Amino acid sequence: EYKGMSKEQMIDIRKRNCNPMIMKVTYYKKPVFIHQGYMQWLWDVDGKRYLDLFAGVATVSVGHCHPKVTAATEQQLKKLWHTTNIYVYPPLHEYCEKLASYLPDPLKVIYFTNSGSEANDLAMLMARLHTGNYDIITFRGSYHGGSPQAMGLTSNAIYKYPIANGLGCTTTMCPDVFRGPWGGSHCRDSPVQTTRECSCSHGHCVANEQYIEQLKETLATSVPSRIAAFFGEPIQGVGGSVQYPKNYLKEAYKLVREKGGICIADEVQTGFGRTGSHFWGFQGHDVVPDMVTMAKGIGNGFPLGAVVTTPEIAASFTKGVHFNTFGGNPVACAVASSVLDAIQEDGTQQISLEVGTYLLTELAKLRDKYEIVGDVRGKGLQIGVEMVKDKVSRAPLSPEGMNEIFEDIKDMGVLIGKGGLYGQTFRIQPPMCITKEDADFFLAIFNQSLYNYMERR
Ligand code: PMP
Repeated sequence: EYKGMSKEQMIDIRKRNCNPMIMKVTYYKKPVFIHQGYMQWLWDVDGKRYLDLFAGVATVSVGHCHPKVTAATEQQLKKLWHTTNIYVYPPLHEYCEKLASYLPDPLKVIYFTNSGSEANDLAMLMARLHTGNYDIITFRGSYHGGSPQAMGLTSNAIYKYPIANGLGCTTTMCPDVFRGPWGGSHCRDSPVQTTRECSCSHGHCVANEQYIEQLKETLATSVPSRIAAFFGEPIQGVGGSVQYPKNYLKEAYKLVREKGGICIADEVQTGFGRTGSHFWGFQGHDVVPDMVTMAKGIGNGFPLGAVVTTPEIAASFTKGVHFNTFGGNPVACAVASSVLDAIQEDGTQQISLEVGTYLLTELAKLRDKYEIVGDVRGKGLQIGVEMVKDKVSRAPLSPEGMNEIFEDIKDMGVLIGKGGLYGQTFRIQPPMCITKEDADFFLAIFNQSLYNYMERR
């Protein structure tokens, strides 16, 4: 039972002492006051239970307050919290070896940070030092962080400020086959692939070719036609779980490398088994990046980020000392190590695959049933449901319409997320411990909320 501060007190303090922008983007008209969590469940201060299908933006990977992770954290908290990493302490080395075993050769050298933004900042620096080039390309609509450098990688107006952020960063078109100019219903077979399969009549994927042409043009306009890096998420998260056509990343990597750049996979959302069939999202594209950045799910909610790269690239980053006070501290490493154990013992990757595929298949039925459900896509438990005014125009459903449905789903006891350039996509990225029954619970509620909306309209 909750006996703490009242809701009114919290709102009052938020108004006076908290980041005002956070006040503005309070997700719900009637805010949710969360008090406690366990696995896929959250409880508010009134004792109401919610099924959490957003997991702090795919951050809670194995479950809120997972018993194994909590026990490992407690143990480490009693032993050693901190020492500078000029000393050698076991948790960091145990975790480094364990994490490296999940990555293919030659991705074996690990740098720890405390967040995704910091990991991407570091990746930018290393890419530039290694290649001697400056320009970095990312996808339009992406989110890679909010620090001044990472803000340059991010390509979504609501996260931008009018300062010189991320000089040398430029964008290429996100190969979105639903909202973008190329693609169509023949790109639809989403639920069982990381990428969109093509079933058009041309015998080759026209959408892919057009988007690759766009990338070629972007590369041709970089200075001096040589680039440092290309950043891409395997499935674009904040952009609304956007899947690319099959082979896009493979061809993009080749073009980028020809221009002297390295390829960086941002696995902050897609890593740690979330896409189900693979441990890393990039594996679904049949590519091996030169660098992988990670955060969020790595610590199940405990602050930790990492950059993993090759010995060759790491060797270019040794002229000056690189130091990070909290990166890879003993507690974070013990937490992250137990998260990997929980992923193994609980079979979360298999859950992502099975429950995720089930959800995608059932959501596709709702897409076919409702005029306002434009697209269902994703892989495993990285799912996007893009909402439209109607299927012909594909105009984004209005923010008011999105909010109505969103609020209704919450009132019925399920928390999901939103994304996309126009806030038009619902996002489902739950802790990877959900069951088929949880999926059915959500599907019934989503169906009801869509029905309610259509009735009111
Ligand atoms: N990369 C991606 C793909 C993300 O989704 C985010 C956070 N939403 C970040 C980087 C930044 O991570 P952080 O908030 O930990 O800085």
